[in-house]
Amino acid sequence: MRGVVAALIVCVSAASTATLSAQPGDLHVLPLRGNVYLLAGAGANITLSVGKEGVLLVDAGTAAMADKVVAAVNQLAKDVTAAAVAARPCAGIGCSGNAFASFLGTVASPAPPKPIQYIVNTSADADHTGGNAKIAAAGTTFGGGPGLGQFVGVVRVSATIYAHENVLERMSAAKIPTAALPTESYPDDFKQFFNGEGIHLIHWKGAHSDGDTVVHFRASDVISAGDVLSTVSYPMFDVAKGGSINGIIAGLNNLLDLAIAEYQTEGGTLIVPGHGRVCDSADVATYRDMVTIIRDRVQDAITRGLTLDQVKAARLTKDYDTRYDVPSWTKDQFVEAVYRSLSAVKK
Ligand SMILES: [Zn+2]
Repeated sequence: MRGVVAALIVCVSAASTATLSAQPGDLHVLPLRGNVYLLAGAGANITLSVGKEGVLLVDAGTAAMADKVVAAVNQLAKDVTAAAVAARPCAGIGCSGNAFASFLGTVASPAPPKPIQYIVNTSADADHTGGNAKIAAAGTTFGGGPGLGQFVGVVRVSATIYAHENVLERMSAAKIPTAALPTESYPDDFKQFFNGEGIHLIHWKGAHSDGDTVVHFRASDVISAGDVLSTVSYPMFDVAKGGSINGIIAGLNNLLDLAIAEYQTEGGTLIVPGHGRVCDSADVATYRDMVTIIRDRVQDAITRGLTLDQVKAARLTKDYDTRYDVPSWTKDQFVEAVYRSLSAVKK
């Protein structure tokens, strides 16, 4: 039965992202597993942990959607952590269930919802970090943790923003306002226990960029993959920002190492891509195969001495273009990035 439910969740996610493209500006909340939710429609996918300690967001969406994201997250936090006990139609010996608890439910006030405590940026891209300033300002980090420094000498408190140190360096170099910059950065991995589970921030070198973080919710068994994975385009990476096609493929293989498939059903570990619908292991394997096949075709063309223009004219992605060639990241942009990435590899 659980497998059926998981399969339905995956299908529903596909449907909701389809609705999304029809109605830009709408946000959609999808329960994934345990405390973990997907918030779609704000640019990059946002993965949420909502529970007794507050809210953690993986990515912040675009700046334009930040107010809507804050409203949606606060509503979800209220629904999950501060819902009043459901009132029963009657109380007393004639009612089924625990009548005493039912009576209390009609008179007890709900606790206030817990705040946004943490934001994790999976990369420095604007569709992942644009909402940082507004969302952080709407939250707070309770003292004693890594965000403690923010309380010293300042009246305003805000959520802590985690990112790999290369994300902080890139955003600083781009003169992004201080309020939107990561407040805590790390050179490799980072771990934190939050809302009853271990959350592992994993750095993979040189995939989408040189500052990628993948977030593994270890008890809920959900992975937020960032832009290493997309179901709506070829993988985006920027050689000038430290990305590489071989790093993307290594990242996809790492995802498969972390994920556990559920026997004969869709389900098991759920993987949230940077863009598109929720995936299971089979989705990631199919995508990994596609990227690997194209990488090998381009490598073969380079070995045979073809120029970039000749490689583009050879249409090496033709069998996948109907699905993955999109205006925001065209087949030519992807093939050029693969070509430059492989040409840069020292033999
Ligand atoms: Zn993205």
